[in-house]
Amino acid sequence: MRRILTLILLFPLVLSCGPRHTDSPSLPLVGISCGRSASGAVSLASTYTDAILQAGALPVVFPTVADEATARALVAAVDGVVFSGGEDLDPVHYGETVLNETVYIDADRDRSDLLLARAAVASGKPVLAICRGEQLMNVVLGGTLYQDIPTQVEDCPSHSGGVLHPISIVPGSVLHSLYGDSLTVSSFHHQGVKDLAPGVKVSAYSPEGLVEGYENDQVFAVQFHPEKMLQTDTTWLRLFRHFVGRLR
Ligand code: MN
Repeated sequence: MRRILTLILLFPLVLSCGPRHTDSPSLPLVGISCGRSASGAVSLASTYTDAILQAGALPVVFPTVADEATARALVAAVDGVVFSGGEDLDPVHYGETVLNETVYIDADRDRSDLLLARAAVASGKPVLAICRGEQLMNVVLGGTLYQDIPTQVEDCPSHSGGVLHPISIVPGSVLHSLYGDSLTVSSFHHQGVKDLAPGVKVSAYSPEGLVEGYENDQVFAVQFHPEKMLQTDTTWLRLFRHFVGRLR
């Protein structure tokens, strides 16, 4: 009886002493910024999490944050960060006032994204910035934006609503090493990079000369939507695999 009791008492200990997770190598973890709907629901297209999963990493959706310590702790918990698409960044963050009624601002998301973006830059961890994310990182790194391309850029056709347009890719950029001289991309933006942040290099231009991508050693930014295009064209996995390959 005593032996049986001892066995029962030791059993949980035996279980907890066994090898843990050593038979399955852990995958890199990627935090993804999100928005919030009017009802308060977390808002992020599943195409972002799908793309990261397909590229061989584990996506986690970051909550909306309101303080620096939380932003830093979240960034510390992951191996890299994706800044996703969304509405416009308040121009106050690059020293301007709102130009017109096309500029739509979500102050809570701005505060959260700016905290997370500054924490990501401070961490040195790889960043993939898409659409609003590309604009956000340009501002965080010291650049400015066009608030409304149709108003501010002469003779520029629409870049919104998913229109397809060509981009020319700058030789020597990482984007060029992945895709060569040109691409056709799906475009969902009415804002864009105006003054490029110091310390980054343009990787792609639209036919009108708009910045469609930029890079430095840490940040890989695109104005277009590779995660959307990946749904119908697997060549876009190359971009996400490159990002995941830089983690850890
Ligand atoms: Mn575009």
